[in-house]
Amino acid sequence: MFIVLRDKYEPMVNICPKYIDEILPSYWYNIIPDLPKPLPPPRDPEDTSSRIDLLRKILPREVLRQQFTVERFVKIPDEIRDMYEVIGRPTPLFRARRLEEFLDTPARIYYKYEGVLPTGSHKINTAIAQAYYALNDGVNGVTTETGAGQWGSAVALAASLYGLKSYVFMVRVSYEHKPGRKHLMEFYGAEVIPSPSKLTKIGREILERDPENPGSLGIAISEAIEYAIDHGYKYLMGSVLDVVLLHQSIIGLEAIKQFELIGEELPDIVIGCVGGGSNFAGLAYPFIGLKNNSSRRYIAAASSAVPKFSKGVYRYDFPDTAGLLPLVKMITLGKDFIPPPIYSGGLRYHGLAPSLSLLVNEGVIEWREYSEEEILRAAQIFAKTQGIVPAPESAHAVKAVIDEAIRAREEREKKVIIFNLSGHGLLDIENYGSMMKRYSIKW
Ligand SMILES: *Cc1c(COP(=O)(O)O)cnc(C)c1O
Repeated sequence: MFIVLRDKYEPMVNICPKYIDEILPSYWYNIIPDLPKPLPPPRDPEDTSSRIDLLRKILPREVLRQQFTVERFVKIPDEIRDMYEVIGRPTPLFRARRLEEFLDTPARIYYKYEGVLPTGSHKINTAIAQAYYALNDGVNGVTTETGAGQWGSAVALAASLYGLKSYVFMVRVSYEHKPGRKHLMEFYGAEVIPSPSKLTKIGREILERDPENPGSLGIAISEAIEYAIDHGYKYLMGSVLDVVLLHQSIIGLEAIKQFELIGEELPDIVIGCVGGGSNFAGLAYPFIGLKNNSSRRYIAAASSAVPKFSKGVYRYDFPDTAGLLPLVKMITLGKDFIPPPIYSGGLRYHGLAPSLSLLVNEGVIEWREYSEEEILRAAQIFAKTQGIVPAPESAHAVKAVIDEAIRAREEREKKVIIFNLSGHGLLDIENYGSMMKRYSIKW
């Protein structure tokens, strides 16, 4: 297992099994007890049906317990820890030395590369945990929804690893126009259903009114939940819930160990992109939990096409566009916000995880919003210097890193920067193609 590019002339440090065990944590970190203010609890809207009861029915029991736990560390069961090893955890911590040289910066730039995981992003970290807990509840299937397909492919693989069947409701337009991820999910053994479908009551009602309905994430969520209830399956959630952020903390916990092992100072700046907030929190929260350096800065990078930071409001809102889940207090553009068809599919979400919203509201975490053209340039600089094509989502983090590294050059400061390269962009290369055409970037 390779962990870090150590020196320009030295290849990578080859990590023997002893180190895998040392780097891979035995506990997830839960930030809830360390928040500067108590987290406002989820609540039911003022109508008849209890959303909290619904959560109880559809989530695996242990996932529900972890969603509301206030313990600071939650033990990772051996069966999950072993599976993390199977998929290639710990993930590498790389130093982006060629990018540093290109930017002529005194900053030392590191990145945690989640793109090495089999489905190409961090999402598998929580899919594995949730699938395992579903199996423990004695069910033989799980359901979920997916837009572009990143979350769906993580669920498809996680379910197969534990011998579960998965049913993925995929927004029909993506199903028809982006078949790549659909094939990947099917390859892993998932049943992929274009949504709206005839398999659920809500799907049938929509199709009766409008047979050509293109589908939406809200409809797909409703179908996945209804199908889970009807068949005694469990429903898995891809982001936003605090339990998902808990599982993703493995990223930052590993990074802290890796910094220790290479004898590097802990970072001054921690950066990640945000959709619902899980990969950002996964890297940043364990550093926040250290409480050893009040000058450390945290930067969340979002898309200016989904301006949740500059235009969003901190209030109670539904975490899902269907309005089936309990209300949570978060920074939100409103659940009915219709995102433009931007290529960073994972950043289209209307809100931001409750704990992350609180930390942004308290000024602990800074934010940036970038245009598509800005992230395209950043992605290309990264690919040409470091070789990896970042996912368009992750390219938002790369842009923030470049800006901070240039600032370090101007202020002559030897900052240590770490960012989460949440995924690779090889499955998004056609999107980059149309972006290149649109902005006609010539090099
Ligand atoms: C889904 C996704 C995101 C956004 O989701 P978060 O919950 O905010 O992490 C970011 N990057 C990649 C590569 C993704 O697939």
